[in-house]
Amino acid sequence: MCGIFGIYGHPEAANIAYLGLHALQHRGQESAGIVTTEDGRFHRRVGMGLVSESFGQAEFDQLPGRGAIGQVRYSTTGGSEMRNAQPFQYEYAHGGIAIAHNGNLVNAQGVRQRLEGRGSIFQTSSDTEVIIHLLAESHEPETLERLVSALRQVTGAYSLVLLTETKLIAVRDPHGFRPLVMGRLKDAFVFSSETCSFDLIEAEFIREIEPGEVVVVSDKGLRSFKPFEAVRDPEPQRFCVFEHVYFARPDSLVNGKSTYSAREKMGHQLAIEHPVEADVVIPVPGSGLPAALGFAKQSGIPFEMGLIRSHYVGRTFIELHDSIRHFGVRLKLSPVRSVVDGKRVVVVDDSLVRGTTSRKIVKMLRGAGAREVHLRISAPPTTHSCYYGIDTPTRSELIASSHEVEEIARYVTCDSLRYLSHRGMMESVGSNTAGDGFCSACFTGIYPVPFQDDQPDAQLVKLRMSKSGK
Ligand code: AMP
Repeated sequence: MCGIFGIYGHPEAANIAYLGLHALQHRGQESAGIVTTEDGRFHRRVGMGLVSESFGQAEFDQLPGRGAIGQVRYSTTGGSEMRNAQPFQYEYAHGGIAIAHNGNLVNAQGVRQRLEGRGSIFQTSSDTEVIIHLLAESHEPETLERLVSALRQVTGAYSLVLLTETKLIAVRDPHGFRPLVMGRLKDAFVFSSETCSFDLIEAEFIREIEPGEVVVVSDKGLRSFKPFEAVRDPEPQRFCVFEHVYFARPDSLVNGKSTYSAREKMGHQLAIEHPVEADVVIPVPGSGLPAALGFAKQSGIPFEMGLIRSHYVGRTFIELHDSIRHFGVRLKLSPVRSVVDGKRVVVVDDSLVRGTTSRKIVKMLRGAGAREVHLRISAPPTTHSCYYGIDTPTRSELIASSHEVEEIARYVTCDSLRYLSHRGMMESVGSNTAGDGFCSACFTGIYPVPFQDDQPDAQLVKLRMSKSGK
C-alpha cells in the first residue's frame, strides 16, 4: 500500500509535499520520494525509510519548482529496494514525466511480458512502470491522450499523480478502489490519498477525484475528464472497504465518510451482534480504538486503555520472518496490569489476519492477570488475499481461509472470538447489505476485477508483483 501526494502552483511545492507525505506516513514506511519540476527540468529525491529520515535541508535545496508529486511506500515482503522507490521519473521522446501510484494493477505481468518481447527494458520490478512504457509507445499527439491510451490497457487499482514539465495529472481507476482527494492551498491545487494531509497543510478540501476521472492542472487552471466511460461502461464504484476498517487514518474523510465514525459504528454493531458479559473493554491501539469505543458505548461496559502502544514502533505487519513478527507485537504493545488484573476483558481489534497478533495479545493479557479474554473483531474473517494493493499474505497464511471461528479461537487461546458480520460492516460504512459501491474481496472472495496475469499460481504472482508494494 502507498500514499501519494501532489501539488501544483506553489512556490514551496517540495516543502508542502513533504508535509503532505508526513501525514500519509501510516500508508507506507518503506521509502519516501518527491519529484519537482521547474523551468522544464525535473528534480528527484527518494530515500529508504520514513519521510523524516529521507528528507533534510540538503534534499529540499535540490527540489526547486512550483509543482511536486510524492509517494510513501508500504513495506512488503522483500521488495524493499531503492529502485522501486517512487515517484519514478523518465525522459522519453516527448519530454519528461514523473509518476506516483497507489494500488496494484492486475494485468501488469502480462503487459510487461508483451512489452519486453518487443524490446522494452524495465528498470524496476514495479507494475507502475508498465504505464509509462505504454504511454511512451502510444502514437497519440498529447500527453493526456497517451496516458489515457496507456490506462485503457491496464486493469486493477490505480490512484495516480503524474507530473510533466507543465502539468500535474491526477487519476483514479474506473472502480475507484483507492482513495484520492483534491484540495486548494491558496493559488495551488493539492491532491492526496487522504484528507488528513490537507488538515496538516491547512488546505481546503474540495472533493474526491471520482472513479474514472482524470484531472489536469496547469498554469491555465484545472480541467476534468471522464475518458474511460466509453470503454468500460458501466463501471460501478468499488471502493476498498479495508480503507475504512484499517488502512486510512481515523481523522480522514475517505469515500465521503469519516473513517473514525465508520469504525465506531462497526464497534457499536459488533456489540449488538456479539454481546458478552465482561468488566472492561480495551482496544488494540491504534486501529482498534474507535471500534472499541463504539463497543463500550453500546454495551455499557467501561472502556479502558488496557494495552499501551509504543510511539517508537511503526506498523509491524509484513515482516519476513515469523520470529520477528512475534517479537514485533511485544515491542509495540504492552499490557496495563492495573486495568486487566482479575478482570473479564473484551479486546477489540479491527482485523485478524494470520492470528499472530491476537495470540500474542491474549497471552500478554493473561500474563497481566486477565481472568477471561474475549476477542471481538470489527470486520468479518479475512479469507482471501487482496489483488488491489493491500498487502495481505498469501491465502494459505490467512488463518480464516482454512479454519472455523472456533478453531481460530483455540489457536489464539481466547475464551471467545466473534467477528462483525459482512452486513454489519457494510452498513457501518454507509453501504447497503449487498455492499454496493465497495470492494470487500478480502472478506468474500468476490473480486470485482479478475486477476488476469496468466500464471499457474496467481497467489505467487501476486506476491511477486506486490513486491512493488504500493
Ligand atoms: P495478524 O497478526 O496477521 O493476525 O495481524 C493482525 C493485525 O495486523 C491487526 O491488529 C490489524 O490491525 C493489523 N493489520 C491487518 N491488516 C493489515 C495490513 N494490510 N497492513 C498492516 N497491518 C494490518
